Amino acid sequence: MSKKQKPPPNPPDHDWLGQAKVLSEAMPFMQRYGGETFVIKFGGNAMGDGRLADLFARDIVLLRQIGINPIIVHGGGPQIGDMLERLKIKSEFIDGLRVTDQETVNVVEMVLSGSINKQIVSDINAAGGFAIGLSGKDGNLIKCDKAARATRDSDSNIEKILDLGLVGEPKEINPHILALFDESDITPVIAPIGTGPDGETLNINADTVAGAIANAVGAKRLLMLTDVSGVMDDADQLITDITITEAKGLIEDGTISGGMIPKIKTCMQAVNGNVEAAVVIDGRVEHALLVELFTEGGVGTLIKTD
Ligand code: ADP
Ligand code: MG
Repeated sequence: MSKKQKPPPNPPDHDWLGQAKVLSEAMPFMQRYGGETFVIKFGGNAMGDGRLADLFARDIVLLRQIGINPIIVHGGGPQIGDMLERLKIKSEFIDGLRVTDQETVNVVEMVLSGSINKQIVSDINAAGGFAIGLSGKDGNLIKCDKAARATRDSDSNIEKILDLGLVGEPKEINPHILALFDESDITPVIAPIGTGPDGETLNINADTVAGAIANAVGAKRLLMLTDVSGVMDDADQLITDITITEAKGLIEDGTISGGMIPKIKTCMQAVNGNVEAAVVIDGRVEHALLVELFTEGGVGTLIKTD
C-alpha cells in the first residue's frame, strides 16, 4: 500500500561505499526487530519543528518498510498551551498533569484529535507510508477511569485527594483494533483522548497512553521522544541508564519533576509489565529513532528492571 518515493539526490562526491556499509551494519538490528511492535511516543516540542517532524515521518515509514509495526502516540502540550492562551483559558499542572475542565477538554480534543493527529498522519502519508489517525474514542480503543492525585499537606501531614477534572487514566485498551493494524500495512497514530465511565471525554497524558498500549500489545520497545537529552541528574548530566529503584529515588527527591514524572513512571510500569525495554530519547536529534534502534550508540536514558 506504500507509495513509491523518489530517492533524494546525492552530491557527486557522495560516499557510496560508506552508505552501503551503514546499511549492512544495520542488518542484524533489522533481523532482531522484524515483525515486532514498537510503541513510539512523539512529544510536543519535536512535533512543532516541521523539518524534524518530516524526518520523524520518514523514519516511521522506514521502520514499517523493514517489517516493524510502529504504533505512534502523540502529545501536544505546547500546541494546547498556545491555543488555550489565545482563547484566554487558564490551566494549572499537578505532577505534570493538566487540570482539565469542560472548556479546556473541548480545546484539548480539538487540538489533539483534529489538528496534531492529522498533521502527523499527513506527514507519514507524504513520506510514502500509510497512516490512519484515531483517538481513544475510535472503536473504544481507550476506556478510562478518572484520574486523581493525592498530596500530603506538609504541616498537618493530612492526605488530600486533588481533583484533576476531566483527566483520564487508561483502564481498558481494546486490542482488537490494534490487531487489525498489525495485520495490515497501516500505521496507527493515536491521540491521547479517552472515554470516561459515563461516556465523558477525558484528557489523558500521552506518556500514560503510550505505556498502556505498549503493555496491551506486549510491545518489544517503548520509545519516548522528548525535548531533552534524556533523564538528567541533579548536576544536569545525562543518565544513560537507570533502574526502577534509582528512578523512584529521583522522583522522591525532586530531581525528576513535572512532565518527566509520568514519562518515567510509565517506563517503570512498562518494563515491569509486558514490554522488553523502555527508553527516553532526545526527539530534537535528527533521526533519533534510527540512531537508537540501528546503531550501538544510544541517544537517551534506558529504564531497566532492578
Ligand atoms: P513531552 O512533550 O516530551 O512529554 P514534558 O514537558 O511533558 O515533554 O516532559 C519533559 C520535561 O520534563 C523536560 O523538558 C524537563 O523540563 C522536565 N524534567 C523534569 N525533571 C527532569 C529530569 N530529571 N531530566 C530531564 N527532564 C526533566
Ligand atoms: Mg509530557
